[in-house]
Amino acid sequence: MAVARTKAELLRLKRSEERTAFVPTMGALHEGHLALAALAKTKAPRVVVSIFVNPTQFAPNEDFESYPRDLEGDLKKLEAAGVDLVYTPGLEDIYPAGPCVSLKAGKEATGLESDFRPHFFDGVVTVVSRLFEQIRPDLAIFGEKDYQQMMVVREMVRNLGLPIEIVAAPIVRDDYGLALSSRNAYLNDAQLITARCLNKILLVPPENPEQALLAAGFEKVDYVARRWGRILAAAWIGKARLIDNMQSGR
Ligand code: AMP
Repeated sequence: MAVARTKAELLRLKRSEERTAFVPTMGALHEGHLALAALAKTKAPRVVVSIFVNPTQFAPNEDFESYPRDLEGDLKKLEAAGVDLVYTPGLEDIYPAGPCVSLKAGKEATGLESDFRPHFFDGVVTVVSRLFEQIRPDLAIFGEKDYQQMMVVREMVRNLGLPIEIVAAPIVRDDYGLALSSRNAYLNDAQLITARCLNKILLVPPENPEQALLAAGFEKVDYVARRWGRILAAAWIGKARLIDNMQSGR
């Protein structure tokens, strides 16, 4: 497995003629990320994974500094997963003029996450477009866990006319249905019990899902909403903000 730690190293590697599948991540990898890498391997002979905690998708009051990081552990997992190349750029490789957004997300970014994290999707499309530019994949895999993000990236690719297919990967969950997330590391045992109620409430939504989430121990519910034939939610326990979504009959 090759590791490129800078843009210069990435560009020095001979550009492969092989069809390339790309999985962008922020690291602290878990089985959800590895499932994306495994899906990538079925789609293309060459798999590239990036690890970059993107400052422009965090607001100043959010968890950029404390976001979990485990580069050496991540590299071992990716090697075992059969990934061909890992790109771990530095800040200056993605933001040579300093971290700021240079692209605006389109209509899919309206509402839901944007109502609570207005900076978020402009940061996502900025970093993803720069990674696409540097890696030039044929396809890229995004998890349905971040469903709105996947839709926003699809819209960006369409709007820019990029020759990149966006493939959606199903959500990987623990034995209790909790969607795996790097931020689950913030949860203590009692909070984990509450967190595991989120998927059950979305699976069989009661009349008032927000009320049910609060009763289950969530401290604040940002939204429960239906869009794209899904029911999507974001809710807080302690310093963890959990998101999840499921296919919805309505
Ligand atoms: P992140 O490192 O959180 O930015 O996630 C990188 C990619 O992995 C995104 O496309 C996420 O949607 C995806 N992902 C994260 N957690 C899961 C999960 N539990 N199941 C499926 N995909 C996931």
